[in-house]
Amino acid sequence: MNILKMQRKTVRDLTPYDPGIMEKFRYKLDANENGYDIPARAKKMILNRIDKTAFNRYPDPGARVLKKMLAKKHGVKEGNLVIGNGSDELIHYLIQAFTDTGDKVVSLTPSFDMYRILALANGAKEACVPLDGTLDLDEKAVLKAAKGAKFIFIAYPNNPTGNCFSEDRIMRIIRRAGCFVVLDEAYHEFSKKSFLPMLENNKNLIILRTFSKAYSMAALRLGYMMAHKSVAEAVNKVRLPYNINALTQACAEIMLGFDINKTVEGITADRDRMYNALKGLYPAVKSDANFLLLKPADIKKAKNMFEKSGISIRMFNSGVLSGWMRVTIGTPKENEAVLKILSRGV
Ligand code: PMP
Repeated sequence: MNILKMQRKTVRDLTPYDPGIMEKFRYKLDANENGYDIPARAKKMILNRIDKTAFNRYPDPGARVLKKMLAKKHGVKEGNLVIGNGSDELIHYLIQAFTDTGDKVVSLTPSFDMYRILALANGAKEACVPLDGTLDLDEKAVLKAAKGAKFIFIAYPNNPTGNCFSEDRIMRIIRRAGCFVVLDEAYHEFSKKSFLPMLENNKNLIILRTFSKAYSMAALRLGYMMAHKSVAEAVNKVRLPYNINALTQACAEIMLGFDINKTVEGITADRDRMYNALKGLYPAVKSDANFLLLKPADIKKAKNMFEKSGISIRMFNSGVLSGWMRVTIGTPKENEAVLKILSRGV
């Protein structure tokens, strides 16, 4: 049996998502995680909850306590929310629930690759629309590609460029596209910008958020979706019954009781300081997120220097971003180490 031939046609040519992580490193600045772990007091509370958790029982299939807390925090109804094992899982469920084989899913390039990968993995067709020369979204091209499509995925702020696209352009796309527009606000806490207030009047708008970035919970996998209740109902039809484990539910509930603002503000201030220090030396993109995209003069030399220093960062060696690198804003010590290399000139 030829296993390759057995694969779904759209899956055959896919390559698995490569997070581009160095095997051994001193500083990990390659995945836009939070440089600071959750507070020690939160960890203690979680350990206490673990102690009280019956490991022989399934977790709450609807993550009801967490859902209630998130609904209150965002001023939406519980019926507007679906919780996922990372926002990745929700992207997968959305495409699974709404696309038939051959349906079109629009994403942008460069952007988060999982939209494209999950569209193809689910038998959909993907259309990738390049950003314009200012790294903004090309409204005309997106609307053209959206004809007959089921989804447009927009990361806001965008990963890996770090910028937020023009609000007016996105708003017109939401109104005119005639398909679902998913605003993936994974880095929202760093940008403070959101399309959430538009949810009530736009049935085709879907907002994604995650606990992996500002909430320092990447290890535990938790994302959530806010959308019209009929969209949430459709996603719940394909959602695996116990997709959020008990430990993750407990940790998210506990973390919602902590103020993350101080950490977030520290990171955004460090981000702006780094950008200001580097923008005269390299082409660099002003960021609304917790990372910076820049272009060293010699990417090979940069790669060597970072590897030698044990700093794992994301290097792009193909496509439009070939020769660019993306570095997560970490702790002051980590940022210093990055600046030391980059200010020497690479
Ligand atoms: N969306 C964007 C734009 C991202 O950058 C990432 C993570 N790199 C995700 C979603 C996935 O987040 P999660 O950890 O919640 O699956």
